[in-house]
Amino acid sequence: MPTALAGKETVSHVGKGSKPLTRQKPRTCVACRTEAPKRALVRVVRTPDGSAVVDVTGKLPGRGAYLCLNVECLRKARKTGALSRALKTTLTDACWDELERCIEHYAKGYGPEERTRELRSLLGLSRRARLLLIGMDAIHAEAGKGKTLLLLTARDCSDAVRKFAEGLASEEHQWMELPLNIEELSAALGTGSVQIAALVARSGAADKMMILLAK
Ligand SMILES: [Zn+2]
Repeated sequence: MPTALAGKETVSHVGKGSKPLTRQKPRTCVACRTEAPKRALVRVVRTPDGSAVVDVTGKLPGRGAYLCLNVECLRKARKTGALSRALKTTLTDACWDELERCIEHYAKGYGPEERTRELRSLLGLSRRARLLLIGMDAIHAEAGKGKTLLLLTARDCSDAVRKFAEGLASEEHQWMELPLNIEELSAALGTGSVQIAALVARSGAADKMMILLAK
C-alpha cells in the first residue's frame, strides 16, 4: 500500500470528534471546483515537514484541501498550482508522484472484501458514535428537520422500504444501496433486523461512506 495512504489505519476513528447532526460546509475540489457530495472528494493534508499526504479519514490535523478522487484532478491541481496554493506549501516531485499513486490506488478501490470490511466497520462505529439513524421511524422523524440525510438500504430491503427511500430521495435527501443484505447490515450494526439506516449528509462519516460506496 502506498505510504501516502496515511490515516487509513485510523479509519476506525471516523466520527470521533465530529458533531452529530450538524450541517457541514460543502467541500470543493481545488482543481475542478466540483462540490461534494456530488462526487466523492478526497482530502489532502499538509504534513509538518511541508509535504502532503492523502487523508483517508478526513481527520488528520493540518491544513487540508479537497480533490476529486481521480488522478486527472490531481494533475490539474499540480499544473495550475491550485493544491500548493491551498496548502500553502511547495510539494516535491516525489510527493506529487506519491499522491498520484495513492489517489490512483484509492480510486481503483480495494478488493470487494476489503471494502465490505471497511463498510461494516464504518457502519458499526457510526452507530456507536450515535451518528446513525436506524429504521424508517427514526429516519422519518429526522427527515423533516431540514437536514439532508444519506439513506442506506440493504440490498434485499422490502418494497415498502425501497418506496420510502425513493420518496425521500426525490426530496433533498440522498440514497445509496449498500452491498450488504439485511442479515449482513444487522450484523454490522449489532442490532436486530435492519433494512434501512441513515447518516446526516456532508458529515465526515457520510462522506467516507460515499467514497466507499462510489466504487
Ligand atoms: Zn475535481
